[in-house]
Order: sequence, then structure tokens, then C-alpha cells
Amino acid sequence: MAAHPRGTNPFAETDDQQALRQLARDVADRALAPNARHWDETETFPQASWDALREAELLGITTDERYGGGGLGDIEAAIVLEELGRADVSSAILAQLMFNGPPRAIQHLGNDTMRDRWLPLAATGAGLFCIGISESEAGSAVNHMRARLTPDGSGFRLNAYKNYVTGGHKAAACLVWCRFPDSIGTKGIGAVLVDLTAPGVSCAGTHVKMGLRGTSEAELAFDDVRIEPEDVLVWGTPDSSDSFKTLIAHINHERCGNAAMCIGAAQGALEYAIGYMSDRAVGNRTLADFQGLQWKIADMTIRLEGARLLLQRAVHLAGPDGTPPPLETALAKAAANEAAKFVCDEAIQLLGGYGFSREYPVERVYRDIRGLCIGAGTIEIQKNFIGTNVLGGTKPSGDAWR
Ligand SMILES: Cc1cc2nc3c(=O)[nH]c(=O)nc-3n(C[C@H](O)[C@H](O)[C@H](O)COP(=O)(O)OP(=O)(O)OC[C@H]3O[C@@H](n4cnc5c(N)ncnc54)[C@H](O)[C@@H]3O)c2cc1C
Repeated sequence: MAAHPRGTNPFAETDDQQALRQLARDVADRALAPNARHWDETETFPQASWDALREAELLGITTDERYGGGGLGDIEAAIVLEELGRADVSSAILAQLMFNGPPRAIQHLGNDTMRDRWLPLAATGAGLFCIGISESEAGSAVNHMRARLTPDGSGFRLNAYKNYVTGGHKAAACLVWCRFPDSIGTKGIGAVLVDLTAPGVSCAGTHVKMGLRGTSEAELAFDDVRIEPEDVLVWGTPDSSDSFKTLIAHINHERCGNAAMCIGAAQGALEYAIGYMSDRAVGNRTLADFQGLQWKIADMTIRLEGARLLLQRAVHLAGPDGTPPPLETALAKAAANEAAKFVCDEAIQLLGGYGFSREYPVERVYRDIRGLCIGAGTIEIQKNFIGTNVLGGTKPSGDAWR
């Protein structure tokens, strides 16, 4: 740990973590950043990013070593996602799905047959995974979902229409949240893993979006898709909401990953603005000489560093095999989303007219992080959770709350 005159930084990175950060930055600078504008302009899947991440063996870092992965946790996932997000959020989100999406859920909550079948793909990057929770009538109010299993011999048939499935048009498998027989409300909600080549699965379309244009959000239809008992990730029973709570809690991995991408993207925008301010002359001074603009940089840094600290606390509290705690996760996600919005917006302002131009990267970053403020649970839903917990007397873990 790095020594500090007044103590020790509890979040200082180990040598291995620093090496991982450097590797991620090298790949991001070499393979992600140069193509980021291209994926955005052409709205094409960032295949070259995927290939580079796969070649660097970064896609499987959180998959268990037994299946060929790196066996790392939320701290390392956040480090890599921050570095990738700094270069291109459309590409980073692919790694997010691999680190904090279905593979992690299979590892923690699944059965051995499912692990043997799918985790080697996750470890090597042989296949992308996606997650189907949202429906057109059930986004924040996920308890209104209609996706349903009906009994079929030893297994089930799945009928569902999932909306906004990131990477659903390219993925090998989808983790689908659905109702088990006789489910009502949150009781009886569980999840199954679906091979997307199975009969009855189709991609009904992809959304045309403001940002994150390299990675599409798909609408996936599941018509009478056969589900074997070993495809069940979490069983739902009609008399209990426990499975639903388990699934919701597991989303904390994804929320921390979302926060990490926002912090990385905002870091990239801040660095770009600082570089521009040093070069851009207005009369005989540079922009960096104006105190009013220095204050903007100070405000951007204050928000960014605050969010970074909240994220570090959340992922450190997860421990090597655990899940980031809910309140700390909600604080980190909301803070990182809002910091990224603020920082990217101010970066555009600091570049003046060029900030508004698609020839410069900051407007793209702003459009990209805007989607992250909605995905993985909106800012408002995080604040609902924070507000009710704090009003109910709950404090975040650790000593930071006085
Ligand atoms: C880039 C991106 C990627 C996504 N990827 C996935 C994915 O891979 N898989 C998946 O399943 N889904 C995904 N989603 C969907 C996402 O989870 C939902 O869009 C989100 O949960 C909000 O649901 P909604 O769009 O139906 O909005 P609504 O729930 O209709 O909400 C509309 C607005 O009302 C607010 N609101 C709703 N309820 C409350 C409340 N009780 N209190 C206060 N405010 C409230 C919301 O915060 C929002 O501002 C993605 C979305 C985006 C933008």
C-alpha cells in the first residue's frame, strides 16, 4: 500500500492490480480509442475491440480459474472497466456483460452443468452473454414482468418478450428473468439461461439510440422455448420472493461496473478538456489561464473523485467472492452517473464550438454515458433506495458516516 504522511490509502492498488490497469490502458489506447468514433458513426458492433480484449485475455478475468478464467473480483473488474470506458464506452460495455453479467451469475448462483457448459466460453471470450430483465411494460417496475414459464414434462416452456437487451443481437446466451408457474408479484420470479440459437428465439429488432451506438440494445422474443431443469439459474416458488431478492442483489455487480465505466468516461473527457485548455489560445492567453475555467476543472475533479471513492468503497466491501453491498452500491452508481453527466457536459462547454462537433470526442462520451444513467437501474431508483434506507436509519458500512 502506498504510504501517506498521515496514514495509508485503504484503496491503494496492489502491484498485480496496477499491472492489470496498465494492460487494460494499453489495449484501450491501442485498439479501442482509435475506432471509437467509427463504431459510433457507423453504428456497427465493435468487433475489433472484442478481438483485442479477447487476445489480451481480459474478457475472462472474473470467471473462475477452474474454467480457465482469471478468478478476480469486483475491484479488478472496476479497474478494467474504468480504463476501457476512458477510451470507448460502447466497447467497455461488452466487457461489463462478461464481468458482471450472466457469467458471474452462473458462477455464483448456477448449477454445475450450467457452469461446465457456459463458463469456458466466458473465460476465453468465445461467446458474448446478455441479460433480459426489462420488458416494454416493466422497466423500473420489474415486478410487473410478464415473461413466464409453463410446465412441460421435466422442464418448462418459456414465453417472453424482453426489451433493451444489450448485445442481444450478438450474444450466445441470455439470462432471462421470468415467472415460474403460479407466480404473482415478486413471488415466484426466478431466472433461466437460454441458448440464443434454440428454436423459438428471435431478435425482433434493435433500438436506434442517441449514444452507445456501437453496441445495440435488442428486443428478444422467446416463443415456447424449451427450458431443461439444468437451464434454471434460480428457481422461483410461488410462496416466496427470496429468489427475486437474490437476483436483485446480484445486480450490484453490474451497478458497480456501470459506475466504473462512467468514472472512466468522465476521466477521459476531463483529460481531453485539460489538454485542449492548455493548447487553445484566446488572444495572448490560453484557456487554462482563466481562473473561471480553472474552477470548472476543480468542480469536475471534485465530483469525479467523490464518485470514485464511493465506488472504491463499494467494491472493496464486496470482498473476493462476495457481492457489493446495496446501499454503498446505490450511492456509487448514482454519484458516478451524475458526476459523468456533469463532467462530460462541462468538457463540451470548455471546448466551445468544437465541443459540440462530432469531430471531437467529448460529445460522443456525453451521449454514451447518458445511457448508463438509465441502464442497470436509473438514478431515480437508486435514490429511492438510498432515501428510504437513510430515512429508516440505515447507514453505509464502514466508518465514513457520522
Ligand atoms: C443503455 C441501456 C442499456 C440497457 N441494457 C439492458 C439490458 O441489457 N437488459 C435489460 O433487461 N435492460 C436493459 N436496459 C433497460 C433498463 O434497465 C431500463 O430502461 C430501466 O430499468 C428503466 O426502465 P424503463 O425504461 O421502462 O423506464 P421507466 O421504468 O418507465 O421509468 C421512466 C422514468 O421514471 C422514473 N421512475 C420510474 N419509477 C420510478 C419511481 N418509483 N420513483 C421515481 N422515479 C421513477 C425512472 O427513473 C425514469 O426516469 C438498458 C437501458 C439502457 C438505456
